[in-house]
Amino acid sequence: MKPHVARKRFGQNFLVSPGVVAKIVEAIHPRTDDIVVEIGPGLGALTEPLLARLDHLHVVEIDRDLIARLRERFPPARLAIHEGDALQFDFSGLGPGLRVVGNLPYNISTPLLFHLAAFADRVRDMHFMLQREVVERMVAAPGGSEYGRLSVMLQYRFEMERLFLVPPGAFNPAPKVESAVVRMTPRSQAALTAVDEDKLGEVVKAAFSQRRKMLRNTLRERLREEDWAELGIDPTRRAEELAVGDYLRIANRLAGLRPPPGSPKEA
Ligand code: SAM
Repeated sequence: MKPHVARKRFGQNFLVSPGVVAKIVEAIHPRTDDIVVEIGPGLGALTEPLLARLDHLHVVEIDRDLIARLRERFPPARLAIHEGDALQFDFSGLGPGLRVVGNLPYNISTPLLFHLAAFADRVRDMHFMLQREVVERMVAAPGGSEYGRLSVMLQYRFEMERLFLVPPGAFNPAPKVESAVVRMTPRSQAALTAVDEDKLGEVVKAAFSQRRKMLRNTLRERLREEDWAELGIDPTRRAEELAVGDYLRIANRLAGLRPPPGSPKEA
């Protein structure tokens, strides 16, 4: 078989460092009967060591040439290949308790993370390799320029841990940027206090659309002065200064819910 030529449009940077592969698999710590799906198995750098520890593995891959190679290498009883776009894939059919892993195509990482967040209630955990800069935004605390829509919307739904950095030389072709591995663990349903996630998404998007402006201005059409007063949030603050819990309280207020008596103003 001819060597595969990496396709830029599919964000193909293949892992070639056995040390990094081993570290990722160790972090995932798969048990034989875990239900695992790998997004973008590519040439199988992670697929093979995962299958060595699992009875069965699902993969979602878009590149037909790579799918043909995977079919030759792994029997269908062990590897279920879902051919297609992970952005359109219905992950709910694979869970509950699903473990999602992947060295993700960097060109679609943000929409893919938002797509996956919708299946959080079927997921046990997720381990991803991403651009370091994206991981910094995912785990960022309020107050800095890295804190934004991605941070709030993911931290609301998941516990997030940056595990380790990976240098460009671990891939072929080598990307221009550093990468990092992140672990995302869904928060329990009981910990989720936003009743209207669409509302939360709208507010966060509006607030960060002009992140340097005062919230009084960016959310002018949604909140009046008395709303800010009752929420106990200073409307002269900027989007990046509010905690995830503040956004939840704003969204809940817009959804017509009042905080229960005695609940803290800041979360
Ligand atoms: N897992 C392999 C590794 O670590 O060497 C390959 C990682 S490579 C960064 C990303 C993989 O995702 C490629 O195999 C690519 O074809 C696949 N891919 C790209 N876009 C995709 C999409 N929308 N849906 C599913 N797979 C996709």
